[in-house]
Amino acid sequence: MTEPTIYELSSPGRAGVSLPALDVDPSTFPPALIRTELPLPQLAESDVVRHFLRLSQWNYSVDKGFYPLGSCTMKYNPKINEDTARLPGFAFVHPLQDPETAQGCLALMYQLQGWLCEISGLAAVSLQPAAGAHGELTGVLMIRAYHHDRGQENRRRMLIPNSAHGTNPASVAMAGMEAVEVPADPEGNIDLAALRTLCDETVAGLMLTNPNTLGLFEENILAVAEAVHGCGGLLYGDGANLNALLGIVRPGDLGFDVMHFNLHKTFSTPHGGGGPGSGPVGAAAQLADFLPAPLVAMIDPGNEADPPLYGYRNPGKSIGRMRAFNGNFGILVRAATYIRMLGADGLRQVAETAVLNANYLRALLKDTYTISHERTCMHEFVAEGRWADAPGVGAGDIAKRLIDYGVHPPTVKFPLIIPDALMIEPTETESKQTLDSFADTMKKIAEEAHTHPELLHDAPHNTPVGRLDEVRAAKQPILTGKLT
Ligand SMILES: *Cc1c(COP(=O)(O)O)cnc(C)c1O
Repeated sequence: MTEPTIYELSSPGRAGVSLPALDVDPSTFPPALIRTELPLPQLAESDVVRHFLRLSQWNYSVDKGFYPLGSCTMKYNPKINEDTARLPGFAFVHPLQDPETAQGCLALMYQLQGWLCEISGLAAVSLQPAAGAHGELTGVLMIRAYHHDRGQENRRRMLIPNSAHGTNPASVAMAGMEAVEVPADPEGNIDLAALRTLCDETVAGLMLTNPNTLGLFEENILAVAEAVHGCGGLLYGDGANLNALLGIVRPGDLGFDVMHFNLHKTFSTPHGGGGPGSGPVGAAAQLADFLPAPLVAMIDPGNEADPPLYGYRNPGKSIGRMRAFNGNFGILVRAATYIRMLGADGLRQVAETAVLNANYLRALLKDTYTISHERTCMHEFVAEGRWADAPGVGAGDIAKRLIDYGVHPPTVKFPLIIPDALMIEPTETESKQTLDSFADTMKKIAEEAHTHPELLHDAPHNTPVGRLDEVRAAKQPILTGKLT
């Protein structure tokens, strides 16, 4: 890079603020505590603004362009969510304030709990968990507590389909249980015969996302629920793919006993740089008593003269707290805004359009890329990023080349059961023009893979940094502000 870093721009004495003259007596401070050297760059306000604006432009975001990152549901986040989250009553509330002085916030949380119950068909919801994976841990701990409560400590095995997201087995291990893999059948559903042989008195439950990570609706879901419940296990729903079901089918009606919601996927709140997110957990009646404490409750319904009074209640057999205070409250405000803006009909339309967009894109690409299963997909689908007659080109190369064309890559090499997987989720918020243009780009890259494979191998060509050693970049990041 030729642009100077903020350290190189630094000039002694240059400042972006001017402090008023001291109008009190200077106080004495123990010399040992006085820092004599603070090696911060010295810059004018304009230098700082330009520095951060430039950095922000290096970043890719859903506000900048198409972001078909499968499983992550990178839908556009409506800006009205930001307006409501910034209302002073929501933004400046203190978590230790007396609940009587934070009634508006509690009312919003109470409503959101109720809406998530209605959408999922479950009995009660806790808003505490800070992400989907945190919700998984919460749900698995609840399942463990449920079996413990019934004197069945031997139930330590959690069944997980081989297409599952990596967080599922990780959450199971964190909860001190054992993850057991269940194979898929040729249609991409859970192999029922294999499942039935695994179901016994050591099974705590099964974790499943529906639609699954191949973007396929789990057609045997009722038989799966019956097999798991039949041996005394519980069904955990990984709600990351709820965007395909909104307003069409309720997970509770399919037999799920407990599930998490990813508010930052389905309900248009920002994913952030790894957080904050929000992963509320819902439970069917038989598990509701184990939810994290406290839940927001209506203490007194009020009457014509007095508004309702909100407070907290602790479920009788609660697993305890999963997070300080009330979860990521600002995210809850955004999700509640999104749900209210759309209403029931709008939410259903979200799911219908998300599924339509994915199938449209799948149809445009199916003659160029091998699609994992010849089935109508739900909100996403998985293509293979490789061709027999273009050896040496893989999903990673296609992903990097997409960056040259200004598109965020799809999820690559996941799910693991598809070779060189490219998992594509367009979401409902993209126009036909965007989908058409993406399909054209994907076809162009397929052609390049055959005629000029080096273009793919060397990509990306016009980013601030080229191809990184991704493991080293994550494990040994260079955080000095200097590009080497
Ligand atoms: C995103 C995702 C998760 C984890 O959710 P986070 O909010 O990222 O922790 C779990 N399962 C699936 C299928 C996902 O897509």
